Amino acid sequence: MFQANDSKHKRGINMSKQRLVENIYRNDAFHWVGDGFYVMQVLPGPSDLAEKMSPFLLMDYHAPYEYEPTDTPRGVGVHPHRGFETVTLAFEGSVAHHDSTGAGGIIRPGDVQWMKAAGGILHKEYHEKEWASKGGRFHMMQLWVNLPAKNKMDSPAYQPLLSDEMGIVKLESGTVTIIAGEYQGVKGPAKTHSHINLWRVELDADGEMAMSFPSSNNVSIFVMEGNLEVNGTQVNEHELVLFKNEGEDIKAKSQNGAHFAVLEGTPLNEPVVSYGPFVMNTQDEIRQATIDYSQGKFGYLV
Ligand code: MN
Repeated sequence: MFQANDSKHKRGINMSKQRLVENIYRNDAFHWVGDGFYVMQVLPGPSDLAEKMSPFLLMDYHAPYEYEPTDTPRGVGVHPHRGFETVTLAFEGSVAHHDSTGAGGIIRPGDVQWMKAAGGILHKEYHEKEWASKGGRFHMMQLWVNLPAKNKMDSPAYQPLLSDEMGIVKLESGTVTIIAGEYQGVKGPAKTHSHINLWRVELDADGEMAMSFPSSNNVSIFVMEGNLEVNGTQVNEHELVLFKNEGEDIKAKSQNGAHFAVLEGTPLNEPVVSYGPFVMNTQDEIRQATIDYSQGKFGYLV
């Protein structure tokens, strides 16, 4: 009797430590951002999910897509942002960026652009000229990462994170690339304003990976290529799996190999009010953003 209870108790502990799956999301509706980014909006921007995903607000995923060579690079023209950060991950192809602070740069495969729009920025994003002239396969992701209220009106800043600066953990059959946060004691280069883990993981066939996060933090995994089993739940290509805020441990394994992103963070627990490219805490702050933008206070960019 005692023994039976004891083993049941132990099983109970194991099960409560495992993170349970809350839901799986997919959005196969692709749309164009400008004429250069053909994306599926996996996370729709501030929404019902905002609290569950915080501090992540939006995910535009550009699945691999062939572009014809061109002398006029495709992209998206000058537009504003305020109140958050845009994070662009390049997997294939190259993106050029220019903004109203005078910053600019090119991100190539494996690089990440971490742009803090904060108090207000104008920028444009387009295929890098030389790459565009040859054309080829393009594969990217853009995330919007919310800023805590106290940082929303900071000066804008730009972190180019190059592939050789990333934290790398070699698994038995795979690789974890740490962009932000830490895995197995290896840190990523991104400076963030709240606790965030952002990793890119490649698993070979039959590869597996274990991870663990405090249950109060939000965790999701987006499968870019291949498929994955997380804590016994099957997740297919282009699906985002969101975990419950219960339990800690996640075991991810792939039968045929997979390429996925892990997004984890401490929820900001602040109100989210948004209007297009502005994400603030109150309706008044949104009104102020539209006024400041129309009065040219976001700077100048051709
Ligand atoms: Mn933008």
